[in-house]
Amino acid sequence: MNTYLNTINGEQVDSSERFESINPATGEPIGRVPVSTRPQVSAAVAAARAAQPAWAAKPDAERKALMMKVAEIIKANAPYLAEWVTREQGKPLGGVGPDQVPGARFELWGCEVWTQVPASLDLPVEVAFEDDTRRDEVHRKPYGVVAAVAPWNWPLLIAIWQIIPSIRAGNTVVIKPSEYTSIGTLELVRLISQALPKGVVNTVSGPGSVGSWLVSDPGIDKIMFTGSGPTGAKIAEAAAKNLTPTTMELGGNDAAIMLPDADPKAMAMGLFWGAFLNMGQTCACAKRLYVPENLFEPTVAALKELAEMMPMGDGMQEGTVMGPIQNKMQYDKVVSLVESAKAQGGTIVCGGTPKGGPGYFFPLTIVTGLKDGDRLVDEEQFGPVLPVIKYREVEDAIASANRLDAGLGASVWSTDINRAKEVAGRIQAGTVWINQHGMIHPMVPFGGIKGSGYGVEFGVDGLKAVTQPQVLSIKK
Ligand code: NAD
Repeated sequence: MNTYLNTINGEQVDSSERFESINPATGEPIGRVPVSTRPQVSAAVAAARAAQPAWAAKPDAERKALMMKVAEIIKANAPYLAEWVTREQGKPLGGVGPDQVPGARFELWGCEVWTQVPASLDLPVEVAFEDDTRRDEVHRKPYGVVAAVAPWNWPLLIAIWQIIPSIRAGNTVVIKPSEYTSIGTLELVRLISQALPKGVVNTVSGPGSVGSWLVSDPGIDKIMFTGSGPTGAKIAEAAAKNLTPTTMELGGNDAAIMLPDADPKAMAMGLFWGAFLNMGQTCACAKRLYVPENLFEPTVAALKELAEMMPMGDGMQEGTVMGPIQNKMQYDKVVSLVESAKAQGGTIVCGGTPKGGPGYFFPLTIVTGLKDGDRLVDEEQFGPVLPVIKYREVEDAIASANRLDAGLGASVWSTDINRAKEVAGRIQAGTVWINQHGMIHPMVPFGGIKGSGYGVEFGVDGLKAVTQPQVLSIKK
């Protein structure tokens, strides 16, 4: 079994301690990963600091061109990296038909696009004020060294979201992947580093303690964190000590609301993928669906039909549409939430019982008969289980959507766009989609409010988030 190494200052670095990465579809080890030591974390930050001034001083066109090379490397290595995503994260390579199911190949395509788009964006100087006496210009400057800490659900795509805007703006990066999905990220960084000066992108690997050394290092100027709320709170505490600005992309509990004029048949596929994309292990999946009484039966029937026809298995086999849950901790959480749903009076419409090993497979599960306050409704399941909740008045559904301390995404489904927009505007979430859910785009800012975090990624706003303004105030 191979050991996959960290990239620090352009060198491949091992550690004396290592751990095994597990394939969630088989339970088998697939490679070894170094546990970075504290001195290695410091060395990675020092390498990023040393590389940053020259990287930031490069002419903009040169930095853009290097980033386009990064996109080419991603494209050329997409088949190799997609296999790592499937083996390590569990999502199928492609599912039915070429790339119709957003699996690992789709994730790699996303990495390419989310590299090309920020590489093409600019942050021109803004003139904040000008008259006969003065001109005030706002320039955008890189922070310096960005610490990126990533989760396990879209390991390469989220790493790219953190790395690419940062380096586009002239920062350098040290990234720590999740301990559940390290190899793909270590390999991605090893490969893209071939196009970049040494020290521009560095990695460290290991458990949360390695992440805590990284974010509390005084050499870090900006933190980008994507992960759970409790970890986010610990990172905010560490960041406060050094007053390090942070972008927090945390968990969600997105509500999807069907309005009484929605069309269950036409909308079922969109609702299904909104809830079950990546086995529900997506921050902005629909995690509770509110349906009016008149549409309840046809909506549940249409979702059940789709859930029961999706082939589940080892994602390395072509034709697989659904993979396993990514890790044992998350699998146990899903099992516990489904058991509590049963105990709290829920009706299992489909799924509901673990498939048995090997691998962390759990069937696509739809539950009715629950209400606000029940665990499966109130807690983020982050798995292939959807509670469908009946409502009487639209006002009640809006109140239900807003009652939790989560505000990442939400969606409203209706044949009347104006009515949908009216409802959407009253929902407390960073993004409210209409007749779609979770449809992110590299030009459109994305981020949470309330307990789902602060700051945005993507587009011009995402690029601004990895820079700080500097005003040049000129007397005329
Ligand atoms: P997690 O918080 O358990 O881990 C995320 C990362 O933080 C891992 O790399 C982990 O090693 C590291 N970490 C743990 N403790 C740390 C500490 N004290 N200091 C620094 N780093 C530490 O999250 P997870 O289980 O990997 O991811 C699932 C969660 O992420 C879900 O809640 C999901 O909704 C959320 N998520 C949010 C978004 C978004 O964009 N808002 C995207 C994807 C996932």
